[in-house]
Amino acid sequence: MLKPFSHQRRQGALAWAAVALAGAAAVGGTALVLQNLRDQGPLLLQPQRQRAPEPPAQAAWISPLTRQCSADPALRQRLLALQRRLPARVERLRIDPSNYAERQRRDAYGNRLSTTPSLIVLHETVYGLGSAINTFTTHHPNDGDQVSYHLLLGEHGRVVETLDPSKRAFGAGYSAFQGRWVITNPAMAGSINNFALHLSLETPLDGEDNDPSHSGYSAVQYDNLAVVLADWMRRYRIPYTAITTHRHVDLGLERADPRSFDWSALQRRLAALGALC
Ligand SMILES: [Zn+2]
Repeated sequence: MLKPFSHQRRQGALAWAAVALAGAAAVGGTALVLQNLRDQGPLLLQPQRQRAPEPPAQAAWISPLTRQCSADPALRQRLLALQRRLPARVERLRIDPSNYAERQRRDAYGNRLSTTPSLIVLHETVYGLGSAINTFTTHHPNDGDQVSYHLLLGEHGRVVETLDPSKRAFGAGYSAFQGRWVITNPAMAGSINNFALHLSLETPLDGEDNDPSHSGYSAVQYDNLAVVLADWMRRYRIPYTAITTHRHVDLGLERADPRSFDWSALQRRLAALGALC
């Protein structure tokens, strides 16, 4: 759901650089560091690693999706045809660099991080696709206004890749999943963004409000969603149990999206594509 929230990015990298430089100064400058490197390896250039704070307790994610190896043959044929056509139909946008960052290789405590996404978070746009695109392509100098997802799925079938999956989208603020988050700035709370892929469904017109539900998403949105998810699951080896919602990962208890999501519609389609077996 699109609302401003806080992010952590530049500060984490700067803190990291400062600690590395302080370490170099403490042992007598760059030449000595390089000399010592031959003996001691790259340890001198790394800050002392510390245990990162863990996220607060959160309800466990119990996936509404289940393992299924049978498929509806007609649905399978339709989705396989869509899968073949999809690469040519994806619109790729260049959003403003203030709204995303690189996936970090270390947290604020010097611990190594994987840069491969391992979680998929579903959202809804609340307002139309054009509104989301306009927000992502606008320069936002203030951290609290910076926002992005990797992909948008339009009500009438548009598939818009707004950010390459290798980059870190600012899709969630204060958040965690199954006891996991990443803190890139100790002054700010942790988030799932460093290991997440964010995908948002265009909200129907009757959902442009704060009501708890609306008329739901179109069949073509579920078709496109299943094809995109099956591709991401295969490409990054993400299990179906790691497809979740913004509502679940949000630790601030402010997000409700995606509202009126039909998990059984997704279950049938992912099973038809062989992604749940
Ligand atoms: Zn959201």
